[in-house]
Amino acid sequence: MQNKIIYIIGAGHSGSTLLDRILGSHSEVFSGGELVYLDKWKTFDLDQFKRLPGFTKCNCGERLWDCPVWSPLSYKEENRIKSRFNAVENARIGIGAILGPYFAQFLGYRASENRSFYNGIFSLMKENSYSSRLLTDSSKDPRRFFDLIVAPPDQEVVLIYLTRDPREYLYTHLKKSRPIYKKRKTAFLILLEWVSIHFVSRRLWARFGGSKARISYKDLTDDTANTLNELGSILNISIQREGLEKRINESKYHIVNGNHMKRSDVRPITFEVRWKKAFSPLQRAMFNSLSFPFRWMDGRSLYRAK
Ligand SMILES: [Zn+2]
Repeated sequence: MQNKIIYIIGAGHSGSTLLDRILGSHSEVFSGGELVYLDKWKTFDLDQFKRLPGFTKCNCGERLWDCPVWSPLSYKEENRIKSRFNAVENARIGIGAILGPYFAQFLGYRASENRSFYNGIFSLMKENSYSSRLLTDSSKDPRRFFDLIVAPPDQEVVLIYLTRDPREYLYTHLKKSRPIYKKRKTAFLILLEWVSIHFVSRRLWARFGGSKARISYKDLTDDTANTLNELGSILNISIQREGLEKRINESKYHIVNGNHMKRSDVRPITFEVRWKKAFSPLQRAMFNSLSFPFRWMDGRSLYRAK
């Protein structure tokens, strides 16, 4: 089997960590995690980066620079994957996603050196005697995926688009204390973020011509066996439902940006709805009506292409 990159897109807190660990429990798959943070580690001012405790960690428990897998990563400045966190660049990518990459490039968008970035990671895996041919990149950011469309790496890219009910997304963002962001966002802004991520993701999904699967968090946790079948068929591997949690808990991972959840044991996988219990009737009514026009964007159905 040739080397492949499994790129996961979707909004944060949609179950991508669980998906990453499920895939990585298979011997053919290496869970890379949010590889976009490798780039941040290498290009940020280290002192500044060290102040973001979560991002500097591999889920083996070590900091990236002490982890046996990631610490030797060689990195050239010219291979740098650009950060996509400014409004002008976001607008270029948005236009590129809607009208086509040519328009983004016309407006000044330049793709990153994805080829050398991923080749570097695959040779690192080889040096560490991992026999896996598939590497997950759960960076999620659709802008990063746009970059992969414009400047494809040497490896085949398989796309998994993961969705989740916007009300659950609201719940996690409002309830979870996120000290690194300092100020809390309002429900309206969180929903707006959810809608724009999915708007761009859907455009990129339609634009991408390779193997792809679109699944919802509900598919993954409520209809796990079928979902794993579908995912297995586009990846040419077989992922068994039986004993899945045990395999996950026994696997050793080196997931970049490894928070506590990425290290702890997974409980039996079941579909959970937490937002209903957590909010007052008034809040529920508000979130229901606010998210109603967009709820169709939460795929809720297994979809496989190619
Ligand atoms: Zn590690």
